[in-house]
Amino acid sequence: MQAKMTGTSRMKSPVAPAVYRPQPVPKVLQTRLVSPRQSNPAQSSRQFVARRANVTPIRNTVQRALVPRVVQRRLDFLPGTEYLNPNTNNIPLAGYRQTLQEAQQLDQVITVRAEKPKVGVAAYTPDDNELKGVIRIEPITERELIDRTDEYTARLIAMAHETRHGIDDLSKLVKYRRNAEERIHTEWRAFATQSAVAFTLIAQGQPVKERYRLEMASYVDKPAFIHRGSKMTEITRSYMIQYELHNNPSDEYIADFMRRHDNWVDEALALYQRLLPAQVDQQVAQNLRPPGTDTTWWTKGLMIAGTAVLVASIALLLKKYYGLGQ
Ligand SMILES: [Zn+2]
Repeated sequence: MQAKMTGTSRMKSPVAPAVYRPQPVPKVLQTRLVSPRQSNPAQSSRQFVARRANVTPIRNTVQRALVPRVVQRRLDFLPGTEYLNPNTNNIPLAGYRQTLQEAQQLDQVITVRAEKPKVGVAAYTPDDNELKGVIRIEPITERELIDRTDEYTARLIAMAHETRHGIDDLSKLVKYRRNAEERIHTEWRAFATQSAVAFTLIAQGQPVKERYRLEMASYVDKPAFIHRGSKMTEITRSYMIQYELHNNPSDEYIADFMRRHDNWVDEALALYQRLLPAQVDQQVAQNLRPPGTDTTWWTKGLMIAGTAVLVASIALLLKKYYGLGQ
């Protein structure tokens, strides 16, 4: 009942029995971690380096310069889902684009189907052998698409949410397939992702369903997330029941879980902030403050978000020019 209360269609589907068939990880995966893309560069760079002695320190730069990056479609948009593709549509939502780009950089393919999942609007289903995934998303009518209704924005929000599950699953950032606690971990990250998209849509004055505003309110800052009765504590409760961590988790049980996984909370909040647009008009932000959110939290959350965006931009620049973080 709690699970239904949250109304998050999307979170239920990864738990559907068919989805979580425990399978031994195929050996081949371990070797596939070194992608073909990486092995060729190494070879050519070795030759290159051999010809010029003492250039080893700039080897990374040389490698990248020598090997053109192969562009491949890691998100495969089947007919009826093309409108979700940020590369062929004008979808001016930084967090949405960034999330889908992350998925496009994976070695595995995620197929996007126009198909109503068993529960809710959209669902990510991992493939048994962990080499691919599918996002099923309820078809949208032509009218809703043209009018950019809250059904349209709901699809974008759901797509961002499910894409995060796909990234977590296929990159193994969060190994949640066989671990109930890790399933909650990926949900916190998926809700962070959808909330950043919801925030941007609201800031642009687009119609967004109320539930997404309420869920977003938990990501303003840590107190908003962990406080008793917050939307995310309620969602977490419903998952605990659904994933059979506890059949009737008390507020104390949830608080304790969040304390034990304090780093997951921080990580989810940081993810949300990273995906927010670089510039948010403070007045607009105040006006779109969701109900039940303390003004201080809201303002503070925005300031943290702004700082995070700045730090991330600097880090990106550093990475681009100095090859840091490789
Ligand atoms: Zn989910």
